[in-house]
Amino acid sequence: MSAAVVGAATPFDSRIHESQNGPRKERPGRQHTPEMQTPNAQMSNPASAGCILCGAGNPGELLFQTLRPILRCATCGLVYADPGSRIASHFDYAEEYYRGGIYADYLADRGVIHKNAFRLLNELERVAKGRSLLDVGCAAGFFLEAARTRGWSVRGLEISDFASDYARRELGLAVDTGSITSAPDGLSGFDVVTLWDTIEHLDRPDQALASIHGLLKPDGVLAFSTGDYSSLLRRLTGSRWRLFGDATHNFFFDVGTLARLLRQQGFEILVVRHAGKWVSLSMILQQSGLPLARTLQAWLKARKRNPAFYVNLRDVVTMFARPIALRDERPAQ
Ligand SMILES: [Zn+2]
Repeated sequence: MSAAVVGAATPFDSRIHESQNGPRKERPGRQHTPEMQTPNAQMSNPASAGCILCGAGNPGELLFQTLRPILRCATCGLVYADPGSRIASHFDYAEEYYRGGIYADYLADRGVIHKNAFRLLNELERVAKGRSLLDVGCAAGFFLEAARTRGWSVRGLEISDFASDYARRELGLAVDTGSITSAPDGLSGFDVVTLWDTIEHLDRPDQALASIHGLLKPDGVLAFSTGDYSSLLRRLTGSRWRLFGDATHNFFFDVGTLARLLRQQGFEILVVRHAGKWVSLSMILQQSGLPLARTLQAWLKARKRNPAFYVNLRDVVTMFARPIALRDERPAQ
């Protein structure tokens, strides 16, 4: 299984190490398109890319040293993980990512994810003009599965071989393996495109939004969630903020930087909310850092118990936006 590529007990540390020493060894049978190689070419020479938001070429100022160095653009304030420490994205998100790291056991949280999905769908169904949906970064497809039961026509896009295989095989969903910046032909005309906790993982969120602009119907809706760097919890927890605990997070937006990014890519904001969500006790324990967390998780698992709680730490922002005509505000790259 391809999941064996990342097999370390502390995969994030090993990923950083490997990314600093060049790309991982090629897996047999894996074809790379030129588009898939583009992010890696940028990784090897990150200074050439400049700030994705304002185009400034100067190196960002170091804010924190977490799993990766966290930098802030001195010109526009965008906060991001040092691109030089970026991991090779198409080798990541193997099975271990979904069964450890920030997730206790993603697959076991299916019911909780459905519960959150139905709340989001209630809102989307009020603003969307139709019922076709693309979920970018759909993971194992649980959001799509929930949408399908409500009559939505659903497609997914997921970079993880493991998760996209699971969505196709176990749930029978139309999920493509790949990234939004190299999306397969034939994806277009969606009423809704969603990215739940995904945009912070991308190498080029600006290019992703530009692609999504082209995939949406003119009256379509973009809906996404991501961590809010300016939130009170982030300020209270500093470098120990939970979003820094995932080495695959590349960007730490706030409402201001997101608004600028959306405007540049031709979107108008419809909704900004700091909503909570249902979270399983095992995931709360996983992110708590408590000394007895692992013991409690094992105790729950042995008893097949994993209750869910509604939690709102107000450090995640959810936005809905709609495409508008592009203005010439994109930074020169
Ligand atoms: Zn900038």
